[in-house]
Amino acid sequence: MSHIEITGARQNNLRNVSLKIPKQRITVFTGVSGSGKSSLVFGTIAAESQRQLNETFPPFVRNRLPKYGRPDADHIEGLSAAVVIGQQRIGGNSRSTVGTVTDIHTLLRLLYSRVGTPPAGYSNAFSFNDPAGMCPECEGVGRKVALDLDRALDRTRSLNEGAILLPGFGVGTWYWKTYASSGLFDNDKPLTGYTPEEWDLFLHGGGTTVSFETRGGTVPQKFEGLVVKFDRLYVNRDGEQTSRRAEVMTFTSTRPCPACRGARLNPAALACRIDGRNIAELSALEIRHLVGIVQGIDGPVAAAVVPPLLDRLRHMVGIGLGYLTLDRPTATLSGGESQRIKMVKHLGSSLTDMTYVFDEPTIGLHPRDVANMSALLRALRDKGNTVLVVEHDRDVIEIADHVVDVGPRAGTHGGEIVYEGGVAGLREADTLTGRHLRRVRPLKEGFRTPSGELTVTGANVNNLRDVTVSFPAGVLTVVTGVAGSGKSSLVNEAFLAAHPRAVVVDQSAVGTSIRSTPATYTGLMTEIRKLFAAASGASPALFSFNSEGACPACQGLGVIHVDLAFMDGVTSVCETCRGRRFQEEVLRHTLRGRSISDVLEMTVSEAAEFFTEPKPRRVLRSIEEVGLGYLRLGQPLSTLSGGECQRIKLAGELSRSGGVYVMDEPTTGLHMADVERLITIIDGLVDAGNTVIVIEHDLDVVKSADWVVDLGPGGGDQGGTVVFEGTPRSLLEATGSVTAEELRRDLT
Ligand code: ADP
Ligand code: ADP
Ligand code: ZN
Ligand code: ZN
Repeated sequence: MSHIEITGARQNNLRNVSLKIPKQRITVFTGVSGSGKSSLVFGTIAAESQRQLNETFPPFVRNRLPKYGRPDADHIEGLSAAVVIGQQRIGGNSRSTVGTVTDIHTLLRLLYSRVGTPPAGYSNAFSFNDPAGMCPECEGVGRKVALDLDRALDRTRSLNEGAILLPGFGVGTWYWKTYASSGLFDNDKPLTGYTPEEWDLFLHGGGTTVSFETRGGTVPQKFEGLVVKFDRLYVNRDGEQTSRRAEVMTFTSTRPCPACRGARLNPAALACRIDGRNIAELSALEIRHLVGIVQGIDGPVAAAVVPPLLDRLRHMVGIGLGYLTLDRPTATLSGGESQRIKMVKHLGSSLTDMTYVFDEPTIGLHPRDVANMSALLRALRDKGNTVLVVEHDRDVIEIADHVVDVGPRAGTHGGEIVYEGGVAGLREADTLTGRHLRRVRPLKEGFRTPSGELTVTGANVNNLRDVTVSFPAGVLTVVTGVAGSGKSSLVNEAFLAAHPRAVVVDQSAVGTSIRSTPATYTGLMTEIRKLFAAASGASPALFSFNSEGACPACQGLGVIHVDLAFMDGVTSVCETCRGRRFQEEVLRHTLRGRSISDVLEMTVSEAAEFFTEPKPRRVLRSIEEVGLGYLRLGQPLSTLSGGECQRIKLAGELSRSGGVYVMDEPTTGLHMADVERLITIIDGLVDAGNTVIVIEHDLDVVKSADWVVDLGPGGGDQGGTVVFEGTPRSLLEATGSVTAEELRRDLT
């Protein structure tokens, strides 16, 4: 079959849509945020593929797999196994690094086992996750928890004055006596007066035996230095002291392992070298530098390992990750970096006829790097795979073999396929996407005058090189630069550390409870309950599905979830309240003819018409202003996309002034039409007297800035400096800035 065929899809807001997607081609899904792209691509296509795959497993395996319900559609045919490459961070423990998750480290180990000298063994001898290779001191973690002497000791005091601050070591205690009664120290001498020999003895012991007085007489005992004792009691094993462990850990710090100095490997593995470098040194190099070194390794033994290794390293560079090092812990990677790394793994695989599903692969990528990303998508296709991409980036839309445009707008105003076909046709199409593709946003005229400045002085976080920069207050500043140039380090770390008052508006989920809704989050629910109480004479608490008024059967959730032992759990509408969340008697009270349940079913726009009272009206208007008029007041916040979460947070800020707001790639997940709206919202925030600093690659946002701070010139060790500061107009003239080049390209 040459197509994936979907008939009658109705997941979430989809309106009974049917479509055919060509296999072994790149199909890009476009449409405004909330139009239904995810419902189609993830909620329908990927979910059905996963469900079909799960059905091939025996029940006890199936029970351990993530649960995928049957998507709401009549037929889905022609699916192949789907792999979703999303933006979930790889995370992982400290043993998971860029090298290990991409399998590059495995190849590097193989290389050392074959051509390294002196030979150290097979390839496990180079693995920090294998006892054969790991540093015995830190067990391959490279870092160790150690007693922080500055916190554990008051060196101005003597033992008798309580120089040891650790809990359990107070004057007169048993542990204190192991030092004070050892006869080795002058108990009245402050620690600062100790000779180097005394220090060493006090901290490390050094094999001395001392006599201790006990009730049973004098016993000889090996004297244990403070550091050694501490390690034995708290660090090297969980020990019997667990009750005190948490408290004691506040007297520690994590440092590079003293034995391997952070290299994670044992001495034999570290002695083995290729061209004078050991495997840990290679892993600490930026990948783009590593390429040159690996290229230089030749000889018949290396021939089998070098080509696949180079292949992967080049993919990493091609995908804009050349600035990473293989030893970088995956837990420190951003969502976009994580996604690109997962992509490298799949490019290395020989599977064909798979369906790869990407969620905005250009996140975190400078326009300069988007072309490389597109080349990799093509490479996946050319290996015989079907590539589905949810993406807003013009340059990625350009490489599509087929486009599915979902719309016309968001939520209940979306859910239809408004265009299917080639890119040329999309450019002509009368859809939001088509219209935005045809139009290039001009550079803004006239820039705002700053009301002051917010300075970062001498920042050295990560790759930053003593950066001092002033952000003008009361205007919109956009921070640009290629991936890895240091934007997050400057804004999210250095700036936020210097200006803790700043508010970060991100796309993370709002409201942690499954009971949160737009109405509860914005404080609207309190107002609505008061109005119902005033109209009925009942208590406001009665109108809350979180307390008195809640349906007792479902505790106000409106649904009941049943876990079944060997099958997928089932969620069904609560029969008692028929999904209305409230007790019957609560629903008898009405406000202008509507029950509280009716009100929660309203969209924000409907509610803005219904409520004439100023307070709820103001809140509802601000939600409408950020383009979320289509959300229902009672819709669980857990169903909101990242972009929707960001906008509902912004809605709450629109009435303030004098604030400082920081946003990291706010256009993530946003269609060109959404970006336009976001710019309008940000402009409103700035006009109200706030300062906004945005990290962004989207050139439409750059063109709307009053001030640009461009970092670079490259990523990693080639970045970390400010290459340009000024208005977007003067950026156009700047030399030595890749952002300037992209801006010129965009405007011509
Ligand atoms: P897009 O991917 O285009 O941004 P989505 O498919 O995520 O859009 O959402 C389409 C619509 O469906 C939105 O109005 C969204 O709020 C709604 N929606 C998404 N998930 C759920 C859900 N689990 N339950 C109810 N509504 C949902
Ligand atoms: P950008 O935001 O411009 O993509 P970052 O500030 O995230 O850049 O990164 C700048 C440099 O610092 C890169 O070389 C990156 O690999 C490195 N870096 C970022 N975070 C960490 C971290 N937690 N540990 C080590 N290096 C980091
Ligand atoms: Zn070690
Ligand atoms: Zn109920």
